Amino acid sequence: MRIGILGDIHGNVEALETVVSALQKDGADLFVQVGDIVGYGPQPSKCIEMVRDLGSVVCLGNHDAAVLDLLDTSYFNQFARAAIDWTRDQLREEDLAYLRGLPLVVRQPPFTVVHGTMHMPEQFGYVISPVEAIESLQHQDTQLCFVGHSHVPAMYLANKKALREMRVVMNSEAEVSYRGFDRVLINVGSVGQPRDEDPRAAYGFVDTDEQIACIRRVEYDIAAVQKKILAAGLPEVLANRLSLGV
Ligand code: ZN
Repeated sequence: MRIGILGDIHGNVEALETVVSALQKDGADLFVQVGDIVGYGPQPSKCIEMVRDLGSVVCLGNHDAAVLDLLDTSYFNQFARAAIDWTRDQLREEDLAYLRGLPLVVRQPPFTVVHGTMHMPEQFGYVISPVEAIESLQHQDTQLCFVGHSHVPAMYLANKKALREMRVVMNSEAEVSYRGFDRVLINVGSVGQPRDEDPRAAYGFVDTDEQIACIRRVEYDIAAVQKKILAAGLPEVLANRLSLGV
């Protein structure tokens, strides 16, 4: 099986279309989405439609939850909150129904999908270092687990019996064999708003037959989405950050 994994899309159709065609070239036969289809970007409804039409395996992200009023947004910064309010007005009833149907965790061996961490999925904590990775891995009972949320890609490869001896791969692009590891946690980075100072869209690709996991990057038309953000009246900072990858 070849799995294409889409991280935080955030309403960015230009990035999503580019990543999906790259994954189709890679030969992906299953799409997974780790949450946050919406928020920040100018085309939330179109992104939901694309993810749904790909038949993706999807979990709920914190921005998706915020649009549904399932989450207190007081800890969001003002720009994120403005985008949530704007997004809520854009979505059709069928989009909201789709988001409402998303679970916090999807377990589908050999993988599990969760937005933040396995040890507290409803709290939307971040995996940003081996400290959180170990906690999450303790609650992972499939070989693979795909997460997002931090918008910074990373891979943690370990064995259940010796989690602390994990191998950590923090490269912005990577191709790693996970043969011999029974607990692999992959933060696939973000399709629509990368924050590792590399503005190219990030995505994950896993070949379960070859036991290879990759983080790949692809350039997309950033100027086009920036124009749409400004035309929609969304905060300018949300356009500017895309060129910087922050
Ligand atoms: Zn996000």
